[in-house]
Amino acid sequence: MAVKRDYYDVLGVSRDASSEDIKKAFRNLAFQYHPDRNRDDGAEEKFKEVNEAYEVLSDADKRAAYDRFGHSGAESLFGRGFEGFDFGGFGDIFEAFFGGTGTATRQAPRRGNDLRYRITISFEEAALGCEKEIEISRIEICSTCQGTRSRPGSQPNRCPNCDGTGQVRRVQRSLFGQFINTAVCGQCRGEGRLITEPCRDCKGNGVQKHKRRISVTVPAGVDDGNGIRLSGEGDAGSRGGSPGNLYVVLSVARHEFFAREDDDVLFELPVNFAQAALGTEVELPTLYGKSKIKIPSGSQTGKVFRLKDKGIPHLHGNGRGDQMVRLLVVTPESLSKEQRKLFEELARSLGPVRRTSADS
Ligand SMILES: [Zn+2]
Ligand SMILES: [Zn+2]
Repeated sequence: MAVKRDYYDVLGVSRDASSEDIKKAFRNLAFQYHPDRNRDDGAEEKFKEVNEAYEVLSDADKRAAYDRFGHSGAESLFGRGFEGFDFGGFGDIFEAFFGGTGTATRQAPRRGNDLRYRITISFEEAALGCEKEIEISRIEICSTCQGTRSRPGSQPNRCPNCDGTGQVRRVQRSLFGQFINTAVCGQCRGEGRLITEPCRDCKGNGVQKHKRRISVTVPAGVDDGNGIRLSGEGDAGSRGGSPGNLYVVLSVARHEFFAREDDDVLFELPVNFAQAALGTEVELPTLYGKSKIKIPSGSQTGKVFRLKDKGIPHLHGNGRGDQMVRLLVVTPESLSKEQRKLFEELARSLGPVRRTSADS
């Protein structure tokens, strides 16, 4: 597979380029390589590359992730959520820049915007799953007028400009004859009616911004950067369009003493000299409460013990990872008088460390 090019190189901008510069560079390149315009070999590939770079660099969050972690950072943060995110793709960007393909009319139902929300959860919450309540602000259909924009009880008037059809016809003459063009009525914006008394609650907009508390079920086993899709919980659509989705992106906070590798929990267990030399039984924390392990006599730093099934549940499927306990033999940093005496005795008894033949 080809190595991905640096997004800044793709757009030909510097790493500290402003969002305005990035937009400008994208616009020029997208025009240059758009498949409708450019039939050269490789133009389409180029076009895709430019789009991908722009998608990341035009979004402050994605750009920050890319700056820190490179391609994998931008992907793991936004591309590889277990729900399989889809943030619109080329179409939306293109419509925003070039006014779409020209076929859409004003009357078409419009899907509501997707919303994104980021929450931070603890290591345990990610491992074991949790229920979170978030407060979001979103656009909803006005409950007073049900989105009709008219004050309840009032009737909108038929638009006199288009006679209620929402479209106006224009006759154009050219060398080839006479054409009749239809266009969206400018007065009623294609709706065919004019509001006589706007709804007071939404000021005739048909929609209102609302704060809502929404509960989010976080499944056990999620990892930093995963996302949860809540279908239909985004902004309301207009003209009968479906609502957008709400995407909750998860950040997992660092744990005081647990770390994660795939679905295993990593844990470092400090023991003192005597415990390591004589062997002992130690109690230690796991995600599922305290557990005991036996340290055999003569254990060295770095020895790893596996606590089966004490790790993180697999997000897809059954079972869990393990907890890996790494032994760390700690040398005392200060000694009491008595301890010093004991160590001196021990030192005389043990003598110098002899290398075994395998080491030398
Ligand atoms: Zn209303
Ligand atoms: Zn009209």
